[in-house]
Amino acid sequence: MSEVILELKELSTHFFTDHGEIPAVDKVSLKVHKGEIVGIVGESGSGKSVTSLSIMQLIPQPPGKIVGGEISFKGENLANASEKKMKKIRGNEISMIFQEPMTSLNPLFTIGNQMQEAIRLHQKISKKSAIDKAVQMLKIVGIPRAEEIVKEYPHQLSGGMRQRVMIAMAMSSYPKLLIADEPTTALDVTIQAQILDLMKKINQEEDTGILLITHDLGVVADICDSVVVMYSGQVVEQGNKREILKDPQHPYSQGLIRSLPKLHEQDKKLYSIPGTVARPKMNQVGCRFAPRCEFAFERCFKENPALYDLENGRKSRCFLHADKEGERIADATITRS
Ligand code: ADP
Ligand code: MG
Repeated sequence: MSEVILELKELSTHFFTDHGEIPAVDKVSLKVHKGEIVGIVGESGSGKSVTSLSIMQLIPQPPGKIVGGEISFKGENLANASEKKMKKIRGNEISMIFQEPMTSLNPLFTIGNQMQEAIRLHQKISKKSAIDKAVQMLKIVGIPRAEEIVKEYPHQLSGGMRQRVMIAMAMSSYPKLLIADEPTTALDVTIQAQILDLMKKINQEEDTGILLITHDLGVVADICDSVVVMYSGQVVEQGNKREILKDPQHPYSQGLIRSLPKLHEQDKKLYSIPGTVARPKMNQVGCRFAPRCEFAFERCFKENPALYDLENGRKSRCFLHADKEGERIADATITRS
């Protein structure tokens, strides 16, 4: 496998609120290799955004704080990097795009103005050359009439076009890592597919590592190489995308996959996992998913399952993979009756 560009080692980010301490991200470990697309998937409230904001040191502090672990980027730990250092890394070596591009674009300035500013933050070139570069980037992301678009304001563009502009801006520094937090959630399905294709193209042509955050397993199925499934602040399953989609091991991943609409069963009522994600609590006893899990047994409410190693680098946080001593059972597969 190629070089690791980002590695989270037991990253923990907590919020200190009036209701107490919330372990929103609880010892999350993952790797992104050069040219790899890693999906983080889970329902709303699982800790996906807090994970990505932690990498960029963009957690509002207070109430949030990275309380443990490492964020290793090109071998350096960003968890305790200075703001000066992070300013150099953000939008340069690591770029980020969000769900709603309107909130990241300034309505008062033209697309060209904002793009040239972003480009010139990191490259010492003239305004004129930066605008030329902006036009070139807009063409790469498939924006027609790029020369005219640079003179327009954000509200004059459609949601899909604005997201392309954000991707063009994010890519203008040729980042080693692109973090995309629900980049297609606000877009309709056809535009969604185009944006995902574009990200895949950039990933292949530039070898950019991508951390793609989504609540939608369909998006993961489309473009990811590997998957991290998060639930209530913790990783519950991780591994190769194809294997997880074909043969999910954790009951939560199984539930997510069952909830996916299937083309040939469109008229059937869609399955959804009963209940909602519980807010993570400190010193919680038992598996966080147990209250919603159809396989839960006594032990699941009394002890916290470890993230057991399965075959081929797969991991699953479930007692169904453990024997009495807490060791994993080699060939445990959960079969639905
Ligand atoms: P996701 O992106 O998976 O939907 P988030 O990462 O946004 O979930 O949130 C994870 C948890 O962190 C949630 O329980 C949420 O309530 C908590 N959280 C996020 N931001 C804050 C904040 N500013 N203050 C307090 N709690 C927060
Ligand atoms: Mg989120």
